[in-house]
Amino acid sequence: MKALVLSAYEHLEIEDVPVPQPADDELLVRVKACGICGSDVHGFDGSTGRRMPPIVMGHEAAGIVEAAGSKVREFRIGDRVTFDSTVYCGECFYCRRGQVNLCDHREVIGVSTPLFRRMGAFAEYVTVPARIAYALPETMPFAHAALIEAVSVAVHGVSLTPVEHGDTAVVVGAGMIGLLSLQAVREAGAERVFVVDVDETRLDLARSLGATQTFNSKKQDVVAEIQKLTEGRGADVVLECVGISDAIALAVESVRKGGAVTLVGNVAPKIDLALQSVVSRQIRLQGSCASCGEYPECIAMMADGRIQVAPLVSAVAPLEEGVRWFQRLHDREPGLLKVVLEP
Ligand SMILES: [Zn+2]
Ligand SMILES: [Zn+2]
Repeated sequence: MKALVLSAYEHLEIEDVPVPQPADDELLVRVKACGICGSDVHGFDGSTGRRMPPIVMGHEAAGIVEAAGSKVREFRIGDRVTFDSTVYCGECFYCRRGQVNLCDHREVIGVSTPLFRRMGAFAEYVTVPARIAYALPETMPFAHAALIEAVSVAVHGVSLTPVEHGDTAVVVGAGMIGLLSLQAVREAGAERVFVVDVDETRLDLARSLGATQTFNSKKQDVVAEIQKLTEGRGADVVLECVGISDAIALAVESVRKGGAVTLVGNVAPKIDLALQSVVSRQIRLQGSCASCGEYPECIAMMADGRIQVAPLVSAVAPLEEGVRWFQRLHDREPGLLKVVLEP
């Protein structure tokens, strides 16, 4: 089969590799669409150390069941499916508590570290454990289904946020996860959602997806603007979807006393934190990692339009063009959000 192989850092090529064989509890999925994640682009240049070559990347995928291992009962050949990016063990302390995203033996599809190597979905076929797969509605295009993983990250972040009906929320960062968090927090009851970014195109998109108001943190004093709109208090909750010091500082300054900041962005290993502002204003900081069982809810919200992903898809291209698209994303071409490859 054809696969897009990272054979060395910054070197991708289409190679002919053997079709993987599903284990007893696995599905062999014929990949119909696979999104390029920001983490794949960072993996491509070696900056994260989580895509050690040789590896087939790709964990945001959807396709059709081609074969199933002998112990698989839940799926049949021909089923349309997507799957979680996290492969959890199902047996450890955290899995038994239902916190599968915190599994002690967590592996990720399309990722290789010194501890594990899982071939991903930038290929004609991929094998995944049946326990992480989910059936897709007939009407959902595969290219949209490939964004469910990103939707689940946003929905999980919101699920950890104490948002109440009528609240004012701020989303810091209008990239993929920010634009999905905007929609998810609105669905969770937020009456007003303010979105902050430095890119006007992304802010336009945020408004078209339901942001009440947007702010450009390069041009505006965002904290002062938010204070003005909240009787001097600040927002009830903030979703931070960037993950660097400045953005987190903005998130902390934008929230009211007793409010909550959920940290979804994950870029800088360490940040500066205004400790006294957090402690004396009794702010809750909540980390959020991947997702944890939100897939069925996400599929339902996408199917009935409560969460829209179509405006976030910048391009759908054949797998053969993957090398070029990775380069364009790596070069940070403006205006590009999600690129979906079709094997
Ligand atoms: Zn991803
Ligand atoms: Zn586990």
